[in-house]
Amino acid sequence: MVNLILIGPPGAGKGTQAERLVRDYGLIHISTGDLLREAIKAETPLGRKAKAAVDGGALVPDEVVIGLVEERLSGKEPELGFILDGFPRTVTQAEALEHLLCSLSTLLDHVIIFDIPIDLLEERIAKRAGQSRAVGTPRSDDNVEVLKKRVEEFARATAALSPFYEHRGLLRRIDAAVGIDDVAAQISNLLGR
Ligand code: AMP
Repeated sequence: MVNLILIGPPGAGKGTQAERLVRDYGLIHISTGDLLREAIKAETPLGRKAKAAVDGGALVPDEVVIGLVEERLSGKEPELGFILDGFPRTVTQAEALEHLLCSLSTLLDHVIIFDIPIDLLEERIAKRAGQSRAVGTPRSDDNVEVLKKRVEEFARATAALSPFYEHRGLLRRIDAAVGIDDVAAQISNLLGR
């Protein structure tokens, strides 16, 4: 069993790596961004509350995302482990997660930070926005203006979370500026597989 947190700015390739980890190791993937987008699309009360923040690249209130993760983790206890992607983003969220995992009698193994320069992100996001527009399903927050806000938000979150997880001996950094296979290899290395 292995429990992971992936931390990285938009466009760093967390989603792609998470997909591989699901495929190769049978882990459960929990992306708060995906859960929020689903809630917005389904126009649930939670989705309506979160829409403005998500569209503008701002953080959704802690209690909203904590509730989503609690629901996902408690509802279906993963046998092989989980990947949290995009959560936690604040120390309050990290503390809530610690309590939740304690109540489920499980622990985190690695908190992986995806290191990548901003100019490369701009390039990737512009490409992703172009591709999703072409197939008619653009993400409402996938544009270069909102990206800047989301990258700033990420820098703030990482600055707060790094010491939190460093202190617990869980923090690992990988170079996310390389190709998909090379990033995957760094992660496999970390997992010792
Ligand atoms: P992501 O797909 O992880 O980049 O998330 C997309 C958007 O969802 C973010 O820009 C935030 O508005 C919101 N969001 C996702 N996860 C969180 C979180 N852990 N805390 C607060 N807001 C979040």
